[in-house]
Amino acid sequence: MTLSEALRARVRQQAHDQCGYCRISSAWVYASMEIDHILPRAAGGSDEEDNLWLSCPLCNQYKHTQTQAVDPLTRRRVPLYNPRVQSWDEHFRWGRDQATIIGRTACGRATVKALRLNIEQAVQLRRGLVEIGAYPPGN
Ligand SMILES: [Zn+2]
Repeated sequence: MTLSEALRARVRQQAHDQCGYCRISSAWVYASMEIDHILPRAAGGSDEEDNLWLSCPLCNQYKHTQTQAVDPLTRRRVPLYNPRVQSWDEHFRWGRDQATIIGRTACGRATVKALRLNIEQAVQLRRGLVEIGAYPPGN
């Protein structure tokens, strides 16, 4: 099923036009932001608003149909971060460079790894944005 434009607009607004995972603003992404199914359709996730959030294409691509991942520290398999119901600040923080994302919890660490939040091209872009004061986001 195709998501309505009204629903897409609502999700974009709720997400402050930022990727729910890496927090990049849509203004700095070449491609269009995508609507992420938090629980993927392939895993039975619905097209309802409470299962949707905004994602940049890179995070969405690496998330793919994953719902869980292994925390590299504890080796436990844990659910991925849910940007709709969980607090980003509780599960992640920025490194000293303000461009690298560090997991604070098992969920955060597993999500950083599974979604490759610190892939070189993303960190390089974020470093440039840090220099011009456009990252990290203020909200
Ligand atoms: Zn992202």
